[in-house]
Amino acid sequence: MSGHGSAVDMLRSQGYRMTPQRLSVLDIVASQQGHIGVDEVWGLARQQHPYVDLATVYRTLQLLKRAGVVTEVLIGNRLHFEMIDKHNPHQHMVCSSCDSVFTLSPDYLAGFSRRLVEEFGFVPDLENLTIGGTCLACLQSEQA
Ligand SMILES: [Zn+2]
Ligand SMILES: [Zn+2]
Repeated sequence: MSGHGSAVDMLRSQGYRMTPQRLSVLDIVASQQGHIGVDEVWGLARQQHPYVDLATVYRTLQLLKRAGVVTEVLIGNRLHFEMIDKHNPHQHMVCSSCDSVFTLSPDYLAGFSRRLVEEFGFVPDLENLTIGGTCLACLQSEQA
């Protein structure tokens, strides 16, 4: 949860104007432990800026993503965002039945990544990769 101040510096150095609404969206994502859905960001932002609309919140999140401050995760059909934590990189697995999110060390994909480079000369960008599937709890309840 550090990084907020440096995120603002980073945005300013890239020439982004940090309006109060943008700052409040950044604050909301930065104060989360993990991912937050666009709707929840909007709900919290409206407590501070009652007239902020969803489109503004969404555009701000996209701006933060382009600036390299946040990353997006698709959970079910809803977009979530979280701060990029360079000290704690992780991939996401999302259960398509219950929308639970599991985090995964990038080690799991290192071998896969290497093979793509070796066999295809293709350098994959797996940072935004989300692995869909079914979690253990859902599998077990299906079998019950
Ligand atoms: Zn995450
Ligand atoms: Zn599940």
